[in-house]
Amino acid sequence: MTAADRPDPALPLPPTPDGDPGVAPSASEGIPSNIRSIKDLIDRVTGRHFGPLSTQGDSGLAEQWPYPFLALVGQWEMKLGLLLALINPAVGGVLLIGPRGTGKTTAVRSLIDLLPSVNQSKCHFGCLEEDVEVGGLDAVCPECAEKYGRGEPLSALRAVRLVELPLNARLDDVVGSVDERAAVHQRMRIRRGILSHADRNLLYVDEVNLLADEVVDAILDAAAQGAYTVRRAAVTATYRSRFTLIGTMNPEEGRLRPQILDRFGLRLLVRGLENADERLEAYRRARAYITNPKQVVAGFVEETLLARDEIESARALLPQVQLPDDVAQIGLKLVQGLGIDSLRAEITLFEAARALAAAAGRTEVTEDDIRQVTPMALRLRRSAYMDQYFDDQEREENEIASALGAAKGKAKPAAKPAAKKKTKKVAKK
Ligand SMILES: [Zn+2]
Repeated sequence: MTAADRPDPALPLPPTPDGDPGVAPSASEGIPSNIRSIKDLIDRVTGRHFGPLSTQGDSGLAEQWPYPFLALVGQWEMKLGLLLALINPAVGGVLLIGPRGTGKTTAVRSLIDLLPSVNQSKCHFGCLEEDVEVGGLDAVCPECAEKYGRGEPLSALRAVRLVELPLNARLDDVVGSVDERAAVHQRMRIRRGILSHADRNLLYVDEVNLLADEVVDAILDAAAQGAYTVRRAAVTATYRSRFTLIGTMNPEEGRLRPQILDRFGLRLLVRGLENADERLEAYRRARAYITNPKQVVAGFVEETLLARDEIESARALLPQVQLPDDVAQIGLKLVQGLGIDSLRAEITLFEAARALAAAAGRTEVTEDDIRQVTPMALRLRRSAYMDQYFDDQEREENEIASALGAAKGKAKPAAKPAAKKKTKKVAKK
């Protein structure tokens, strides 16, 4: 793929060394030459000082300049987790958990300039060549089956998009609804919903813990199947919906249903910055951005382009990254030691470790990769409710066993042999 294939990434050209001095010189020290991995890049940019900003360049126009991802101060884990999800969608989504005002939404929206390109369907139903290769011509819509037969492509390389699901979205917006205009002409047609637009893209849900239950159910359904079916009156349509789910939540505002929590692979805790220098730097960058977003974007353009290249190379390397058995055993021991039931735990743990290895340009996962991603992959996996449930259940089993034992003593000799009394002791800490 060439740079020309990309849709306009909304990035300005790098500033010339003697160009507009609106951004302090300290903000454009030039491209770091010793960057070895995305991790290096995050470190390097986080430590950079963004100096005072002249207000002269303010254009006064309300242009769309997403805050540069790498300009976010601190929040190492949040940045790494989001980048790992871009490198390897198999980590299974990302949940950002933290109080208000910690930059969660800014971070997600700022991913726009880093999004890689993937093969995306040209058809509303999301048909891809690989669907035909796996499931035959019946696996795609009739139109795409014909196209495939003529040797025409069903997909094209496009940048992944960030599809936002607003908190007030109705179920019809999410899954699709009858197209009223088409219905007037007696051709019932279904208008695609947000879940269909999210196919092969990122689906971003802000305040996911406050979503209506029916919307959550629709998301869970689509996430589990990779597709969903809409039935409206006499019309039925099945849309593909293979997305990376990114959610944010403030735990103060309500809990998340366990089913949807389980759908998020990486769980990133986002706390307020504790270091005074970092807070000051965050304030400087935020103020500079409010004053003149274009210049802040320009001040980080080199690192942004570098990070995008790093993500593309890591994605290209990922299929070759192997997980050695001894390293896998270490991961499994961690999962078992923490008493985690969900199988998704080790899937996320191993896939995140593979993404991290790819980000460092390696083709083998190390123990250190596993250790680095363990907190984000394994936290919030245990359920106090399930622990209590199993404890209660064990108590009841014992009571049933004792009752059976007591009943055996009173039974008449002619009765058939009763079950042996269970002697298993409750293993409690
Ligand atoms: Zn199709």
